[in-house]
Amino acid sequence: MTGMVTLVGAGPGSRALLTLAGAEAIRRADVVVYDRLVDTDILTLIPCGAERIDVGKRAGVHPVPQEEINAILVRLAQAGKNTVRLKGGDCYLFGRGGEECEYLHAHGVPFRVIPGVTSALAAPAFAGIPVTHREYGSSVHIITAQARAGKEPEIDYPSLVRLGGTLVFLMGLAALEQVMDGLLAAGMDPQMPATVIENGTRGIQRKVVDTVSGLAAQVRTEGLQSPALIVVGRVCACSNTLDWWTGLPLHGKRIAVTRPQERAGGLTARLRALGAEVIEAPCIAIEPAAELEPLRAALENRYDWAAFTSPAGVKAAADALRRLGRDLRALYGMQLAAIGRGTAEALAAYGLTADLIPAQYDGAHLAAALLERLPEKGAVLLLRARQGGKILPEALRRAGMTVADVPVYDTVYRCGRTDELRRLLAEGALDYVTFTSGSTVEGFVRAVGDTDLSDMTALCIGAQTEEIAKRYQMKTITASNAAIDDMIACLLEDCHHV
Ligand code: SAH
Repeated sequence: MTGMVTLVGAGPGSRALLTLAGAEAIRRADVVVYDRLVDTDILTLIPCGAERIDVGKRAGVHPVPQEEINAILVRLAQAGKNTVRLKGGDCYLFGRGGEECEYLHAHGVPFRVIPGVTSALAAPAFAGIPVTHREYGSSVHIITAQARAGKEPEIDYPSLVRLGGTLVFLMGLAALEQVMDGLLAAGMDPQMPATVIENGTRGIQRKVVDTVSGLAAQVRTEGLQSPALIVVGRVCACSNTLDWWTGLPLHGKRIAVTRPQERAGGLTARLRALGAEVIEAPCIAIEPAAELEPLRAALENRYDWAAFTSPAGVKAAADALRRLGRDLRALYGMQLAAIGRGTAEALAAYGLTADLIPAQYDGAHLAAALLERLPEKGAVLLLRARQGGKILPEALRRAGMTVADVPVYDTVYRCGRTDELRRLLAEGALDYVTFTSGSTVEGFVRAVGDTDLSDMTALCIGAQTEEIAKRYQMKTITASNAAIDDMIACLLEDCHHV
């Protein structure tokens, strides 16, 4: 049976501005065909087993020609594949989406279209420009300023000037001078406010606000580059007053999140909401323990406490119990200890309340807190990573306790974005790298190899993580207590000082 092709507008940048319907379509895809303007963090939504086809233009490499993209889509659909065609911004706005759908229709391939947030409207919104305003502009016109090979862009300047609305030019940076000259020649007021927005909606967004007569020179001085768009109109005068984005405390900072994919989302969203440009680059992955026998055997004994040292451990324990044909009631009668707030929250998601969270969120403090509550010759069931540190079990054993240290998951070093991390480090363009465990530091160092790490700062969740980061000559800042909230507070304080 012929598969369905779904055109999905990916939005102007990060995953945060992808629609829910778009995300759902990607999650269900057998294959995703995507463009250059689609951010890598949207690509992380593609299911592991699905095929990815990059038809976008990279520096120096030509894009796949449109005819070939059309043919690829038909071929995939005819092979029965549920195909997602992912396009930057909105699929029908200067993305040749219409041509793709005509071709699919002509070949009898069913298709549907999920619109996206277009950069033409979103970038102005992030730059403090309402594209219409009762006082300053009652229409908005979106125009391509891309010229056909060797020609001037065909733009009807006199009509645009006569309309008096807001003008948004896409693909216009290369032709900026011609566009401004065209408007002036058609009689536009040289003092009309005009703006160029580079990397709109991103944490690295930049803008130049000037007038139609001064914009081009100013943009060249500041070196703005593509992707960028031009906004012309009286609404641009609002740009500084209504700029809510570039004043956010982390705006302009590029921050990498290294924790495993399934746990990265919360931290990423928090950093983004504070204005940061976030690179989600998981450096470790969590794999359920292959062997269930140690857990099964351990559950034949009785314990006073079950202890969890990470949110991943809670989920992995629940999954492992399910694979054994059991559930969390297997821990009945035990008290539950969580190393920190995040782990306690993971327990809460299963309806369980942690009976103990140490004041400081690390292995040594967890051991001390447990020892205060354990009876003599007590027993503790540790459900954690095979690679977990020795401090906790050794401290308990030294005090005469029985410890069953059961691996419910493995932490493996794996990173899919090594080239990008290396490039950003080489350019000194990575301000902070967040580390939520020692293993994320190890995974990061393995990913970037012998790159110089002296320009970046490691934001560490706790003292043990910091110690490992220091071993690799990183500058470090460390949360006062091992929790995401404290990491953010620490980061904000550091940004405030520099
Ligand atoms: N379909 C897309 C536009 C594709 S044309 C959309 O709806 O957004 C590509 C042009 O879009 C670029 O040349 C640039 O002018 C603009 N563009 C795309 N993303 C942008 C961004 N984040 N900031 C500024 N301009 C952007």
